[in-house]
Amino acid sequence: MGRVSCMANILLIKNRKREYTDHFLAVSPPLGVLYLAAYARDKRPGKDVFTIVDERVYAKTSREWEAYLKDLRPDVIGFSSMSIEQDQVDYLLPVFKRALPQAKIVIGGPLASSSGAGLLDEANIDFVVKGEGEIPFTGLLEALDGNEDYPLDRIAGLAFRDDSGSIIDNPPSKNRADLDALPYPAYDLINLQDYVGRDRMTPVRTSQLYAPLFTSRGCPYHCIYCHDIFSGKFRAMSAMRVVDEIEHMINAYGVHEFEVYDDIFNLDKQRVKDISAEIKKRGLETCFTFPNGVRGDILDRETLEALKDMGTVHMAFAIETASPRIQKVLRKNINLKKIRENISIAADLKIFTWGFLMMGLPQESRRELWKTIWFAASSKLHGAYFFPVVPFEGTELAQKYEEAIESDGEKRLWDYFSPEGALGAVGPRELAIMHSLAFFLFFFNPWRVYLIYTSGVAPFRRLVSLALGLVRYIAVDKVFYTLKTKARKVFKFRITPRTA
Ligand code: SF4
Repeated sequence: MGRVSCMANILLIKNRKREYTDHFLAVSPPLGVLYLAAYARDKRPGKDVFTIVDERVYAKTSREWEAYLKDLRPDVIGFSSMSIEQDQVDYLLPVFKRALPQAKIVIGGPLASSSGAGLLDEANIDFVVKGEGEIPFTGLLEALDGNEDYPLDRIAGLAFRDDSGSIIDNPPSKNRADLDALPYPAYDLINLQDYVGRDRMTPVRTSQLYAPLFTSRGCPYHCIYCHDIFSGKFRAMSAMRVVDEIEHMINAYGVHEFEVYDDIFNLDKQRVKDISAEIKKRGLETCFTFPNGVRGDILDRETLEALKDMGTVHMAFAIETASPRIQKVLRKNINLKKIRENISIAADLKIFTWGFLMMGLPQESRRELWKTIWFAASSKLHGAYFFPVVPFEGTELAQKYEEAIESDGEKRLWDYFSPEGALGAVGPRELAIMHSLAFFLFFFNPWRVYLIYTSGVAPFRRLVSLALGLVRYIAVDKVFYTLKTKARKVFKFRITPRTA
């Protein structure tokens, strides 16, 4: 295995999804690669030079990439990719290898965690980093430097081909990073201003500088559709460490708004209250959004008030289905009565609430689908996303889908806009109609307009921005995307017989 030079030149790329128009791209600062760079710099001071390219902000053509790579000449190129972004990874790999055959290509992020060593079937990938990336990626850099304390086959979470071409798939690490000891993400490597005013995970745009926060990892629940990157054990930064990072971001970058990405920020209620109290004690001016969702049925009024006190303006509730039977199938087991109550309390506290709901779940009947739509429409949610089910590789749900769908031998590239309807009682065409109807029934009613108008800050701006967003989604993006997908299928159909 070749070595990299003494001072390694490392390029980290946050991928985009190839097929979507720019309208579909929710773009937030790439926290995963920011943590990787910060951790490696902390453990290997002075040994590496990092460059970060966020493709969702700076998209390049293959020709531009080739020119860029030949100029930068990185020794190591790391892709951070979601499963849904695999189309772009597949597209870029040959371009990168052609431009820089000597550079080591590493894949990390959710795609690597769910697909694992299987990604090495693609000859242009040198290493796969599964699970949490900080420790194995830094170990890999040491190994590439020739440090004998880091033999490749001992780096937990790493998969690669040895000199004979055999795949070595190291088991995941049992040692997880100590979250309190993590350095702050390397925000000096990006320009936070690039992320202002774009579509982001938080559905209501602000024009302020903001930064992500990721204060805990792991979740003790075991929903069948969820990833297992961080294991089933909840680990959290202490309240002090969280507020230290917030204060650092205020002082170093002038950031006061924070987008929290935790899977389950509110599991430890006392920690939430301590964070809120500490922010107040230090007199920090802060604003928070929780676009990744909270566990809505374990909240209570006291915790919601603490969240409001620290400046929470938006919170998503991951409901998924209003059918208790399907809740059991998913092993989510949300208490629907409780979550409805908490949505109501949050809305009364002027927290802009948003619901996540899924359509096309295993065994789901037409009646249960309508029940879910009605649950959302009759709640105090200000907004909602109805997602066609996207089963990600490596989850129990994906396994169910693979068993149910007759495989045509082609790699499946799932997306959020084409309902498959493979496991429910409702077929894809009807599901697609119900999916559009769900949005229509939810948003186009006076109750919703009233709720949004009375939701607190800048209600009129929120209404206009939501209305414009919906018009764009239905009239432009959904239609355009569907036509584009259909056109590609027709085009493929015409070409294939001639080249076969
Ligand atoms: S509660 Fe949320 S984070 Fe936890 S396993 Fe279920 S979906 Fe995943």
